Amino acid sequence: MNPKYPSLLLENAVNEFAKLPGIGRKTALRLILHLLRQDNSTVDGFAQALTELKHTVKYCKSCHNICDNDICPICLDKSRDSSTICVVENIKEVMAVENTMQFKGLYHVLGGIISPIDGIGPADLEINSLIERVADGSIKEIILALSTTMEGDTTNFYIYKKLAPYDVKVSMIARGISIGDEIEYADEITLGRSILNRTLFNESYRM
Ligand code: ZN
Repeated sequence: MNPKYPSLLLENAVNEFAKLPGIGRKTALRLILHLLRQDNSTVDGFAQALTELKHTVKYCKSCHNICDNDICPICLDKSRDSSTICVVENIKEVMAVENTMQFKGLYHVLGGIISPIDGIGPADLEINSLIERVADGSIKEIILALSTTMEGDTTNFYIYKKLAPYDVKVSMIARGISIGDEIEYADEITLGRSILNRTLFNESYRM
């Protein structure tokens, strides 16, 4: 049962915050009480940033990354390798891969992965636009960097099949033991994959 709130305005605000992923009603209340203690200008700025973001944000017409113009800064960057595309689920994965500073190609944001349970099929994702980019002919390699889940595997396989008619190399990010993991605690599938996908000693220390 929901607790009784002393104000309907407060209750409405809690209801809105509690719609966010990972935010329960207690956390929602704590965040709102924190906001209430701030200056009007701080709260106005907070609300304005959200409204502006939602109303004016754009998605890159090429890679579907979030941006302020029609084409994102990554796609516009002429110093990057435009013949390699890293396929990711969402914008936050673009940021994660960028943070590694190990990739200098372009991206393609699918907007999710195929998940029949959640009612997400290939048509709901930016897969056709990926095929179109490859069909244009200048792409040499597609790197699949999706979740290592069944849904991720299904999506990898779907894309791989779709790309089969084209002269493009399709690779997948390595799966294996995480840095800092102890071998004895690794699950069998991961350990097995790590052995199959082993790398030459000198190559694994290129970083
Ligand atoms: Zn882009």
